[in-house]
Amino acid sequence: MRNISGAAICILVLASGCADKTPPTQSAKGAATGSSDIIPGLLAQVTEANLRRDLFYVAKQPLPFRRANYTVPGHKRSTLEETDAWIERRLRDYDYKVESDICEVQAFGCDLKKPRHHTYARPAYDSQFFTVRNLYAKKTGRRCPKEIIVLVAHKDSQSWIDSPGAYDNGVGTVALLELARVLAGYQSERSIWFLWCNEEHAPWTSNIAAKNCRQRGDNLIAIFNVDSIGGKSDEDIAAGRKTNVTLYTAPEGKRLADLMAEVNDAYKIGLIQSSYERKRPGDDDGSFIKAGYPCAVASLGSYPYADSAYHEAEDKPERVDFVNVRMSTQATLAAVLRLDRAP
Ligand SMILES: [Zn+2]
Repeated sequence: MRNISGAAICILVLASGCADKTPPTQSAKGAATGSSDIIPGLLAQVTEANLRRDLFYVAKQPLPFRRANYTVPGHKRSTLEETDAWIERRLRDYDYKVESDICEVQAFGCDLKKPRHHTYARPAYDSQFFTVRNLYAKKTGRRCPKEIIVLVAHKDSQSWIDSPGAYDNGVGTVALLELARVLAGYQSERSIWFLWCNEEHAPWTSNIAAKNCRQRGDNLIAIFNVDSIGGKSDEDIAAGRKTNVTLYTAPEGKRLADLMAEVNDAYKIGLIQSSYERKRPGDDDGSFIKAGYPCAVASLGSYPYADSAYHEAEDKPERVDFVNVRMSTQATLAAVLRLDRAP
């Protein structure tokens, strides 16, 4: 997770009824008017046990890192390729078809003269290129298939240092998998896409995903970036606070940040939920804003990001607050479902 600048323009209206006017079914009408809210039952299916099991898999054993430039001794594929294969296997188990974009990236350089937590540097001019992938699992909506809600998380760990990247962004990687699992049998009204990209190698591959969406003219009505959820200061950890900050850049994004606060209250999720206006687009949500989709937000455990192990070797799964990660995952799920089921 990192901040880099850019500009934004766009015009999408959020959840104002879809363009393709197939009449909603009786059950969707009932749910949309609140007569039988199925959201609490789906939220209850998000489990800390799954999040914990998956995070240890991709940030400790058998995968210590998720890097294009690190291969476990004796293995044939890089740890990032092994991560991709594992995500694909899991998605296929849940009956998703997996699509991908092919991208070329380099590892960042490491400059130890730069401040702690920020030692990444431009790749050396002769550094090796690696072929990596964005992975997608897509659900097609039955009522408004052309309106697309995107959940995005970068799956790679830091290419310039030996960090397991448990918070950054192992938690987002496994949160998206858990959401894909919970929603596997759910018949969505709109289309819901899960996207795993790479942000700790250069260039960020969410840029390619966002540009491809723009080129095809995809109608993305909301983009939720899930990055470093639960990551917070030592004081917040000591006080047992369960925090989540939703960053937005444009007014369209503020509506999504407000929605996160609303569902946290409505479903008694228990987060200390706040929002923050970015001065300019950043991280993987920023890639979509720069491509002309302003309705993009990022959820993080804190902002400015306060994890003492940020971009350090100590960013290990043993330190992760899984209760907080589960709550942030549930809040994201509730917001997605609210949008999906809006009239
Ligand atoms: Zn990062």
